[in-house]
Amino acid sequence: MLSTLNDFKQYFNLTEKEIEGAKKVIDTFPVRCTEYYASLANRNNPNDPIKKTVFPTAEELKDFLPDDPLKEEIQSPVSGLTHKYPDRVLIVATNYCPVLCRFCMRKRNWKKQSFVITKEQIDEITKYIKTTKVRDVLISGGEPLTIPDEILEYLILKLKEIETVDIVRIGSRLPVVAPNLLTEKKIKILERGEKVWLNTHFNHPAEVTKSSKEAVKKLLKAGIPVNNQTVLLKGINDSEETLYKLFSTLQRIKVRPYYLFRCDPVNGVFHFATSVEKGLEIMKNLKKKLSPLALPYYAVDTYRGKIILFPEGAEYKRDEKGYLFKVEDVSILLP
Ligand code: SF4
Repeated sequence: MLSTLNDFKQYFNLTEKEIEGAKKVIDTFPVRCTEYYASLANRNNPNDPIKKTVFPTAEELKDFLPDDPLKEEIQSPVSGLTHKYPDRVLIVATNYCPVLCRFCMRKRNWKKQSFVITKEQIDEITKYIKTTKVRDVLISGGEPLTIPDEILEYLILKLKEIETVDIVRIGSRLPVVAPNLLTEKKIKILERGEKVWLNTHFNHPAEVTKSSKEAVKKLLKAGIPVNNQTVLLKGINDSEETLYKLFSTLQRIKVRPYYLFRCDPVNGVFHFATSVEKGLEIMKNLKKKLSPLALPYYAVDTYRGKIILFPEGAEYKRDEKGYLFKVEDVSILLP
């Protein structure tokens, strides 16, 4: 596991300027990466997408934005659970991740004391889900599949028993950043859950490797549908060619690309954001080349939910203050 700047020097050719920039950041936003994921980088490419995903830059300190613009923490009726949509809830199972992606929208949790959901919390959460008749449960983190197998099994089987729950979605980046940690035992637990789907997060074709393909294959073989969400990231994947290659490769391995998100206006992250128009232009061109099964929805996320942006006639206004979106009766301004 890489956890110091020195560890990163073994995988990337770093300039003095890059190291100096990173040193300023790591007290605020630490570093961590698996050997597997770092080994995917081409060390001679100064703009390598893997390097940009995991190696900090001083730009992370230039934003003065909220840590939690989606207001996940204040919409939490029970510890560990966010309830934003009538039929759906989010369970944050841990704040631990084996790879700290610099664009993470839950970066605010990195420096909190490590936590893993407890059985007592699971009991409270499942009691709440039963009374509210929620239909769709998303388990996220951090990396939820790093929690102890015993806790994972307890959570998955408790959710399976709830009559109203149709689907349990697990948001996991393990197939991308640490496919070896997706053990047979974990897959068996997910399989026993019966309602489980896995939503993973490939951002770049360089992340689709023999090991990640094998991990996906095992999940599919166990009857677990695998979908993908990508974040549109300046300097990493914000080109038509890169996303064409990513989405077509994912389709080939039977992973459905279903969301392309604009980067959220989160502290320490927003330097990765592109303009809304850039994403619309890319989607317009991809639409001519890819069938709907390989085309994700392009969306921005807000505290009132996701807004899907269609290349034709996207509904927003832009002025010098930013983008103004309307969600039902509320207007939301995004930078
Ligand atoms: S794996 Fe997901 S939760 Fe973890 S740091 Fe990366 S984006 Fe954030």
